This record gives sequence, C-alpha cells and structure tokens, in this order.
Amino acid sequence: MTPSGKTERDIAETLRQLRLVMTGLQVAGIEDWAAAWSDPAVGLPEPEKAIEQEPDPAGGLTVIAGELEGCRRCRLHSERTRIVFGEGSAHAPLVFVGEGPGLEEDRQGRPFVGRAGRLLDQMIKALGFHREAVYICNVVKCRPPKNRTPESEEIARCGPFLIRQIEAIRPRVICALGACAAQTLVGTGSSISRLRGSVHYWRGIPLICTFHPAYLLRTPAQKAAAWEDLILVRDLLKTGCVQDGGIGREGIKPSPASDRHIGP
Ligand code: SF4
Repeated sequence: MTPSGKTERDIAETLRQLRLVMTGLQVAGIEDWAAAWSDPAVGLPEPEKAIEQEPDPAGGLTVIAGELEGCRRCRLHSERTRIVFGEGSAHAPLVFVGEGPGLEEDRQGRPFVGRAGRLLDQMIKALGFHREAVYICNVVKCRPPKNRTPESEEIARCGPFLIRQIEAIRPRVICALGACAAQTLVGTGSSISRLRGSVHYWRGIPLICTFHPAYLLRTPAQKAAAWEDLILVRDLLKTGCVQDGGIGREGIKPSPASDRHIGP
C-alpha cells in the first residue's frame, strides 16, 4: 500500500490505462496528445479536413495486405498460423473492427468465422446487409496467444495498418466491436460500457462502439444493448445522423421485439 492508499495493483492498472490512452491517440491519428488531453475538442472531426476517398480502395487494400506479408513487426508473429488481414467490400459503407483473430480465424486466415463470427453475421443481417457488402477487420492481424487482449506495443505496431485500411475504404460508419477496438479508435481507456450508446468520430467518420460478439455469446442479457447500438449504426447509415436524439432519449422508436433478435 502506498501513502496515498493506492495498492500496487491500482497503480499498475492506472499505468495500463494510460498506455492504452496514448496508444489509442496515436492510432486515432492524434499526434499532439498533450493538447488532446487538456482540450477535448482536439481530435474532433472537422468535415472540411476529412480525408479524401481513396480513388482505388481495392487497390489500396491490396497494397496494404502486400506490406503485411510475412510481417514480424511485433511478437504476435511468433505463434500465428496466418495473418488475418480482413475481408469484405472495398467500397463498404460500414466497417466492423474487432480485437484480433481467434483460434478459428488464425486457422482460416479470415476474420470472425467462429461462433462469434456467426453472431456478427446475424448482426450484419439485422442491419440489412450481406457479410460481403461490409468490411470486417481487427486491430491486430495475428492471434494473441490464448486469445489474450493485445498489448499496447502490439496495437501500436499493427494499428497503422488498421488506419490505412479504414482510410482506403473511407466508410460512412465504423462499428468497433469490444473494448480493445473501441478504446483504440476513440483513444481512451474508458470501458466499453461507457463508450457504447453514443456517437464518436474517427477522422470525421461516425464511430459506434458496442459489445464484442464473443462477449454477447457469454452474456446474452447484453444483446438488447447491442441492438440499441445497431439502431444508431442503422440511423447513421440511413441519414448520417442519429434519429430522435439517440438512445434513451424521448422519442426513439423501439423496434418490434422480433427485430431485436441478433443471435442464438
Ligand atoms: S500483429 Fe500486426 S504488426 Fe504484429 S506481426 Fe502480426 S501483422 Fe505484424
């Protein structure tokens, strides 16, 4: 116990959160993190400065994938079977970003193909899309051992490729799945429960954070909350803004119960 009453574990957790914030700011493209820290307006979208649509998104993705071939930039290379770059439409209006590949993804070299992937497919279907019409990728492209959360050093090494993927596609909406993706893209150490339910921005693109499908499989009671997040995604895709003020505000129209089912 320190004089301030904090345990070493408290301090370690605070340092972990700080590292996450700094990595997230870096991945979010906010280089002047000191200014961002003191001024919440730093890093907020300025539509006129929004990055241009890549003239050839598919070509851009191919170039990025080529640069990652055989990648050994971080220690996650040592236990991977395959790099899981991402898949879907290069012209996708919606990009899903997860944490990292799991066992099945590592075997197949494709993102979200296990049980969690099947649930994500249902979430995508609930939004009116086929899987092939959206783009799905992860913060890190190699499987962390035992599916642990990627460390900040690994995110810092792999994150720039995620940035380039999103920049190449330039979707209308990004949906971060789980705490790692949400914290990385928002540039914060806040919990997913705090980050979900409102619209964030990543370089001018609306960003919705929601629970990871793997978490929803373990905690089905949170599916209703995830459905609320998908309604935000749907509204942003349809109109570019959130209808009726967003979740929990007076006026939001609940969907029929049958529409809310997004998985087993
Ligand atoms: S996780 Fe990313 S940076 Fe690390 S080895 Fe794999 S592809 Fe390279």
